[in-house]
Amino acid sequence: MISLVIPIYNEEVLIDELINRTLKALKSFGNDFEIIIVDDGSSDNSIIKLLKHRKQDDRIKIVQLSRNYGHQAAYTAGLTVAKGKFVAMMDGDLQDPPELIEVMYKKLISNENTDIIYAKRKSRKEKMLRRFLMKMFHKIFSKITRGSSIENVGNFSIFRDYVKDAILIYSEKNRYLPGIRFHAGFSQDYILFDRDERIAGSTKMSISKLISLALDALFSFSNLPLRTMLFIGFVGLFISLVGVIYVILSKLMGVAPFGWSSTLFFIFFFSSLQIMFLGLLGEYIYRIYKEVQNRPLFIIKHFHE
Ligand code: UDP
Ligand code: MG
Repeated sequence: MISLVIPIYNEEVLIDELINRTLKALKSFGNDFEIIIVDDGSSDNSIIKLLKHRKQDDRIKIVQLSRNYGHQAAYTAGLTVAKGKFVAMMDGDLQDPPELIEVMYKKLISNENTDIIYAKRKSRKEKMLRRFLMKMFHKIFSKITRGSSIENVGNFSIFRDYVKDAILIYSEKNRYLPGIRFHAGFSQDYILFDRDERIAGSTKMSISKLISLALDALFSFSNLPLRTMLFIGFVGLFISLVGVIYVILSKLMGVAPFGWSSTLFFIFFFSSLQIMFLGLLGEYIYRIYKEVQNRPLFIIKHFHE
């Protein structure tokens, strides 16, 4: 059986098309699938529409969260109830074409040794700024994780049940699932696809949500920011040693009292650098704090099984 997990947040305008198209795309599986839709605290009529579909087709299951937790948490909630031997993740706005699930599934079972098939984007249709930011993020992320295979890869994927169990062991609060799926190992392969435009409604991932997801990903999968800070600190130390020698020599040679501009320059430069580094440390402390608090990632209000 396949469990298809789809997170939804205020998507009432596209739910009918989403479900109809997905059911059609999964036709060849007969009754051997479940669609787990996670309502991530929608404040529109999404849940009413979902329950209507649920009534007509009991292969549709609905996980209703107690509030909006963000789509990484919503996916995770869906994974916890998935019962299939195979589990797939797909965005709910039809940017990920459901027809590809069968393609990915076939590729997955064609090799007994493959555990994960993910869909890699050949192209994406997003607004310019978003596309630029996403591209930058993927470039940096694949560099720091030394895994070029993760570039242009999102949540859209299918994997075996033990991969799902492994992903759920990762209890971190700052979650970035494509990174976790990659980190968990297993043998991975991919298909290529063109990412569609959202069919209706507007994106639920504001630029600020995107940036915070990108920071979660970077901070939780790399110590690069800390390393860079250490490196800059060393360079600064070297420069100041040269400066100190220069100051002492000037003193000895009796030409000391000058250099108002250079003094101010160094004060400005190094004090802003210090503040920046403190902010960077703050980012780590904030993330550590969130992990230590150990609050639940999500709370399920109701599972319409
Ligand atoms: N989503 C969610 N909770 C959120 C934000 C988004 O469940 O807080 C869902 C959303 O309904 C969609 C998927 O996650 O099905 C991807 O979101 P979106 O399409 O808005 O993001 P983008 O594709 O623009 O990155
Ligand atoms: Mg989208």
